[in-house]
Amino acid sequence: MTTPLNFDTTWRYAPAPESIPVRLRKSYGLFIGGEWTEAKDGRTFRTINPASEKVLARVADASAADVDRAVKAARRAYDRVWSKLPAAERGKYLFRIARMIQERAREFAVVESMDGGKPIRESRDVDIPLVAAHFFYYAGWADKLDYAFPGRRAAPHGVAGQIIPWNFPLLMAAWKLAPALATGNTVVLKPAETTPLTALKLAELIQDADLPPGVVNIVTGGGETGAALVNHPGADKIAFTGSTEVGKRILRALAPTGRSYTLELGGKAANIVFEDAALDQAVEGIVNGIFFNQGHVCCAGSRLLVQESVAETVVAKLKDRMATLIVGDPLDKNTDIGAINSKEQWKRIQGYLKLGEAEGAEKYQPACALPEKGYWCPPTLFTGVSQSDRLVQEEIFGPVLAIQTFRTPAEAVEKANNPPYGLSGGVWTDKGSKIFKISSKVRAGVLWANTYNKFDPTAPFGGYQESGMGREGGLHGLLPYVRLLDPEHS
Ligand code: NAD
Repeated sequence: MTTPLNFDTTWRYAPAPESIPVRLRKSYGLFIGGEWTEAKDGRTFRTINPASEKVLARVADASAADVDRAVKAARRAYDRVWSKLPAAERGKYLFRIARMIQERAREFAVVESMDGGKPIRESRDVDIPLVAAHFFYYAGWADKLDYAFPGRRAAPHGVAGQIIPWNFPLLMAAWKLAPALATGNTVVLKPAETTPLTALKLAELIQDADLPPGVVNIVTGGGETGAALVNHPGADKIAFTGSTEVGKRILRALAPTGRSYTLELGGKAANIVFEDAALDQAVEGIVNGIFFNQGHVCCAGSRLLVQESVAETVVAKLKDRMATLIVGDPLDKNTDIGAINSKEQWKRIQGYLKLGEAEGAEKYQPACALPEKGYWCPPTLFTGVSQSDRLVQEEIFGPVLAIQTFRTPAEAVEKANNPPYGLSGGVWTDKGSKIFKISSKVRAGVLWANTYNKFDPTAPFGGYQESGMGREGGLHGLLPYVRLLDPEHS
């Protein structure tokens, strides 16, 4: 007798959890001057796994006095070692770090998923390979700055203070560290308080790579630690990635000082789907753009603008696809949507879900069983939204899509450009000419055509308006870390 096949509406996969053991210490100190040290006042905070709410480690909470120690260590390393090192030697260190990241990639991926909640598929296939790629790319520039800036001498600022968010913890660290070190700066880096672990593991790797002590210093803590770094006069340059709200505060603090800064801030990107697009491909791109990685992406396609004639079809296809998405254990290789990064962020997303309904929009969530512990949000879409609705205007940073329709290309562009951000966007059409026309009119730093969320270390990234100022990545990413002088200037 044969067992009857039990067909469901979707294929069910057997659980496939990533199983390598990772080595985490019970507690982590600050990494200053090449050594591990406690916070001066002994304060610590917990970092938890948002999928289980279990404590992963305790981490030192740096005060202004600790930040001062770190900045001084960075200055000493700059004056005594790093500024005197031939550029090719700086490059060698970066190549070594890149190779060691590749060697330890699997462990980094697991820790990233445990600490941040993102699916292992993302951290394993996207984040960590891109981290290594950024170090390789900027390692190559270290001794070629004369070619990057012909006719000028590119001099480092000195000490760079770098503050990063929780959505791509190690990748944001790489975006900042690699160009800063390649151009000859030393660094004090502050990771986000909910995801400090991969930066701390990077500190261990940096020790193993024999980078001279003090060239990279890592101070953990929350907003106060970040503010202490911003306000420290010894940090010659500040590079910040995070929310527009905090970015504005930093801008107010730095603008009168004459110190150098770059701000990579929030976004509210629109995917624009024309009636001549390959609709199944577009649906896949929309899903990738907003639902994978829980919508914790600055350039997430959190708005969909779809041409009226195909709107019904696209929304129906989207709902079908959403019903197949797997929400759950970030360490399971089948998971599409992991845990929301923190309780605070979970509450913020819930607030927007309620607000959307209160604003009169229609909410759709596929039925899906969520784990009992941890912070979760099913993929959600809202139809019947208006341009002035907060769902359309504000960054939610969760797996929540607001859908609007348009009739003409001009209307699509007007709606895409309406919110105060300008970080990214997507255009889906069969016509190359339409891609060029639309992308020249949408005010966004990055515009993908018939694809979404593609990154490469050679390509610059950054925004307009409330999405910030300055670029990271590519040749453009070197510029914020140098002062361009006359070649004769000593
Ligand atoms: P956030 O602004 O709350 O925090 C970012 C970092 O700043 C954290 O390390 C935090 O501790 C620190 N911080 C908080 N207050 C500070 C202060 N007063 N002074 C100095 N530092 C302070 O942002 P978040 O919630 O961690 O990250 C999500 C945001 O980051 C989203 O808005 C997202 O769009 C943005 N982001 C932008 C990019 C980009 O490239 N444009 C990339 C990733 C994330």
